[in-house]
Amino acid sequence: MIFKLAERDLQTKYGTFREILYYDGQKESIALVMGEVEKNENVICRIHSACVSGHVFNSVECECQAEMEAAQSEIQKAGNGVIVYLEQEGKGNGHLALMASIPYKKAGMKQSEAYEKAGFEKDARSFRPAAEILRDLQVKSVILLTNNAEKAEDLRKFGIVVTELKDLSTKPHEEITK
Ligand SMILES: [Zn+2]
Repeated sequence: MIFKLAERDLQTKYGTFREILYYDGQKESIALVMGEVEKNENVICRIHSACVSGHVFNSVECECQAEMEAAQSEIQKAGNGVIVYLEQEGKGNGHLALMASIPYKKAGMKQSEAYEKAGFEKDARSFRPAAEILRDLQVKSVILLTNNAEKAEDLRKFGIVVTELKDLSTKPHEEITK
């Protein structure tokens, strides 16, 4: 069960979005909505996780900020769409996990393995809040902006119709760590 707490219009570099704040009893999540999405099919949708380093500190070690910009730009071009921002940094393990995993990442491990090695879960994310938000917005089906097929599967598990996956084209930084 998810509850709407507040909403407002938010002006961005990529146009004005309706910012809707939700709460599921544990965490707050935010939907950025542009245009009409209610009862619409094939709504462009990005599910985006928090990243302090990328979104606040302008890190060049990940693509989170570039991905957010690319998603906003895609939605602006289409005239409508939804970005769901979930408070689940470090694949849901939190910022400590992210920092603790760095030595293992530098040793060449994949991010998920590095989290496990650091004593956290490989992937502790849940897409249930995102699915509940899309249901609350009465989106009928989505084109998901991601190159991660698992994300689409997770959303489908929670009853969301994903008609298509579309890659977000971002210009990668020289060295990428996720
Ligand atoms: Zn990041």
